[in-house]
Amino acid sequence: MENNQIEVVEGDITLCKVDAIVNAANRTLLGGGGVDGAIHRSAGPELLKECEALPELEPGVRCQTGDAKLTRAYQLPAKYVIHTVGPVSRDGLHGEAEKLRDCYQHSLELAVQNNCRSIAFPAISTGVYHFPPKKAAEIAVSTVKEFLSNHPDLEVLFVCFDRRTASIYHHLLSDE
Ligand code: ADP
Repeated sequence: MENNQIEVVEGDITLCKVDAIVNAANRTLLGGGGVDGAIHRSAGPELLKECEALPELEPGVRCQTGDAKLTRAYQLPAKYVIHTVGPVSRDGLHGEAEKLRDCYQHSLELAVQNNCRSIAFPAISTGVYHFPPKKAAEIAVSTVKEFLSNHPDLEVLFVCFDRRTASIYHHLLSDE
């Protein structure tokens, strides 16, 4: 049975009317390709300005891998964008799974700290960062489920850009 706090949809996360959408960003937080590019295009130039104003932790780096930062969402229908930086998948021996788990955990914590009742995630790291989609979805689902067991008022949307990803999530959530 699917958890009634979790929904899986196939579509474009920039269209989601939720309190927070999560961006699969890179460490610069200054935009990029994939979902990051789509979010910046739809939010408008003020999003980039707010990201630029975030403090640099080291030259050019505003968010470390596995961490998350919150901004406003400007022209997007969401209230906030939570920018998280997924790991680049290498050989699985560089803490990639733990870092991906951290992305979900830190994004969820930031959402709750900012009184969000709903949050939408893309499939972090499964695009140009090449994380295996099934393994990534398992990490996403298990981290979210554990978090929701202590946060009964939060709703989580997994927004899948293609049918294959959506079917992985549906399968995982109906398996239990
Ligand atoms: P990463 O660098 O973390 O791999 P990508 O943006 O390349 O990030 O891809 C992450 C996932 O987001 C991929 O599954 C990709 O298909 C998906 N994606 C791309 N654009 C969108 C969008 N507009 N809405 C939702 N998901 C998207």
